[in-house]
Amino acid sequence: MDLETKALLLSVGTVQVAKPSAGGRASTAGPGAGGQSVFFQSGPHLARLSIAASSPLRLESREEGVAILMDGREIARGRLAEPLLHCPEQAYITVSERCIFDCKFCAVPKLQGGIKSGQTVLQMVEEAARTGHLRAISLTSGVEVSPQAEAERVAEIVADLKRFRVPIGVSISPFPGVNKILKDAGADEVKYNLECVDPDLFLQVCPGISYQEIMDALQEAVAIFGKNHVFTNIILGLGESDEILRISIDELTEMGIIPVLRAVFPHPLRAGETWMERPSAKRLLDLARYLKKALEENILDGSAALTGCYRCTGCDLTPGRDL
Ligand code: SF4
Repeated sequence: MDLETKALLLSVGTVQVAKPSAGGRASTAGPGAGGQSVFFQSGPHLARLSIAASSPLRLESREEGVAILMDGREIARGRLAEPLLHCPEQAYITVSERCIFDCKFCAVPKLQGGIKSGQTVLQMVEEAARTGHLRAISLTSGVEVSPQAEAERVAEIVADLKRFRVPIGVSISPFPGVNKILKDAGADEVKYNLECVDPDLFLQVCPGISYQEIMDALQEAVAIFGKNHVFTNIILGLGESDEILRISIDELTEMGIIPVLRAVFPHPLRAGETWMERPSAKRLLDLARYLKKALEENILDGSAALTGCYRCTGCDLTPGRDL
């Protein structure tokens, strides 16, 4: 498939599958947690689509591989990529599947899932490593008790996972001092999510969280982890304008921070809590192209990412990989 087709698939974000359990995998991470998804690989592009019976896209088997149809017409041909743990080639693990915060677009606080012990995480990564396909480890976590307690627990796990000799990325809720804790533990990359770059909307959708504290942690992280190794998720589709997004992309990339532009996942558990709408294919393409230019102007390279979403590419149009 070409870039425009991937943009179309991501703008929909879901697909019907004849037998969901055959190709789908459950996700425990972030806003889309709790659902099953498939990874569709076609040429150089990978698209992760959540399985939904009502989707306008349909996945069908072909003699070789699979096809995706829209309105009965085939729009892409490829194969299903096998995730290792959550995504291909990575052990991407959610340590605490619960959260004391209540971001209005995120399913994690509603699901109140389990807390993995260091031993459980170690066993999961050991199993992934045995396949011979483990290229990176990405750890993410909600906040069970406090951001500080979470960071200390995740840091212990990171130190333990260094034995696998693959890069380790960490995405947790930041606070002053978080970077030193993660760097000392041996993390290679970090992602602290701003989620919503419209200041007024941020107050509504991320109550109780300090935007400035996230920015401060990101800025400090660039000095500690280096350019091309500090990321932040920005959600598209919460009602923010393209103008605010462009200003934020410029500001972040000038600071050496790489934004991940992520289409909102309107989770049924959050229905009616805040305005959420998947961005159109055109909006995804326009913003991805703008981001690519901003990265280039600031000598940043998405293909240098060692872990996480810039390495995976399934959910986004990823500069340095897709375009
Ligand atoms: S792009 Fe990120 S969130 Fe999406 S499947 Fe890949 S690792 Fe998971």
